[in-house]
Amino acid sequence: MLHNDQLEQWDRENFFHPSTHLAEFARGNLQQRVIKTGYGCHIEDRDGNKMLDAFAGLYCVNVGYGRPEIAEAIAEQATELAYYHSYVGHGTEASITLAKMVLDRAPDHMSKVYFGLSGSDANETNIKLIWYYNNILGRPEKKKIISRWRGYHGSGLMTGSLTGLELFHKKFDLPLAQVMHTVAPDYFRRDDLSQSESDFVAYCVAELEAQIAHEGADTIAAFIGEPVLGTGGIVPPPAGYWPAIQAVLEKHDILLIADEVVTGFGRLGTMFGSDHYGMRPDLITIAKGLTSAYAPLSGSIVSDKMWKVLEQGTDENGPIGHGWTYSAHPIGAAAGVANLQLIDTLNLVENAGSVGTYLNDTMRAALGDHPNVGDIRGEGMICAVELVADKDMRIFFDGSDKVGPQIAAKMLEQDNVIARAMPQGDIIGFAPPFCLTRAEADTVVAATSRAVTAVLG
Ligand code: PMP
Repeated sequence: MLHNDQLEQWDRENFFHPSTHLAEFARGNLQQRVIKTGYGCHIEDRDGNKMLDAFAGLYCVNVGYGRPEIAEAIAEQATELAYYHSYVGHGTEASITLAKMVLDRAPDHMSKVYFGLSGSDANETNIKLIWYYNNILGRPEKKKIISRWRGYHGSGLMTGSLTGLELFHKKFDLPLAQVMHTVAPDYFRRDDLSQSESDFVAYCVAELEAQIAHEGADTIAAFIGEPVLGTGGIVPPPAGYWPAIQAVLEKHDILLIADEVVTGFGRLGTMFGSDHYGMRPDLITIAKGLTSAYAPLSGSIVSDKMWKVLEQGTDENGPIGHGWTYSAHPIGAAAGVANLQLIDTLNLVENAGSVGTYLNDTMRAALGDHPNVGDIRGEGMICAVELVADKDMRIFFDGSDKVGPQIAAKMLEQDNVIARAMPQGDIIGFAPPFCLTRAEADTVVAATSRAVTAVLG
């Protein structure tokens, strides 16, 4: 086995890490962590440190680490047929079975699934399909996409544009011209503190209406949103938000993309976030939970309404000019089939709902009264604790103290619990594997409590 010092040196010399402060890393000022193994909700590094991963990697290892059922399915597929493409009507038993399993679980009005590799490429696919759709319908000017500030939809050219976080735009010449952003549905962070929750929803709707009126509805193709804002701060929508937004979109013939990369396959305690909030999307983006990250695989689920137009398009123009070499990769598909079977067998959607609610309730009971805890929010197996400098006046820390990152670091240092300091604001995020037990939820809450006290008193 290679020595840790050797690995760390090679790491600094050769590895371009995503979402990392490159200069600090090269200077040796960022902790290097080489993860070796994982089982259930825990991972272990090369030094034998065992950590409870309360963020399931990047909220993706939904069934937990070390599942032999999925590992074996991957090995069998790799041995039998590691690869064949899915162009021009080709497929494998795994990819065809997985497509059926996805559609069986998706809302009834969905028709087909296109498989990609990452959440980012699935959203790129979605935008291309929407542009194609409007071209086939003879309205080439209807192309703009509305996203939300603090939405996260990937980091490609189009998807990085859709992402409503400044860090993903700054110095990259993004967002692209076809993309615009509207209000983040974050009631806690509303500008006007006198607004009730329903006033705030009315405000979000009015802002959207104004933007549509300003641009012209005939130029706007689609609206994209995560059922629960994820990377932008883990924010469930205020009551009534999705039905109200959807009514505006329907009125103006604007398509809805539900980006369910985080919420798909059970995280909210329902199979899809769209079911949870009564959304009726035209496209659904899936990734992470499709394979629980045992292999890279994503998908764009297409509604009946759009599918009919795509078929018409190919009658008029020839085969669809869109495809990746690795679309529906058999190894990813085999992992997906085994993963969805495991979710069913172990009732993991139900567990995500019940233990997730327990985690949220216990977190509220333990920290709700702390003077620097402004908000505790969540739904199913996702939860966030937002820290503030002054709770009564709702004054935020200015960011320079890095309170969120300090607390997450303390949790790891004191209790070996991994939470995520969300990239914007002082927000600690939790999105554990669905197999979390109540005892493990208690450990997560106790670690959070101890870290908040250690950092803020
Ligand atoms: N959409 C959402 C809602 C996400 O959370 C993410 C990833 N965190 C993506 C898209 C992009 O997925 P990927 O990182 O696999 O490209």
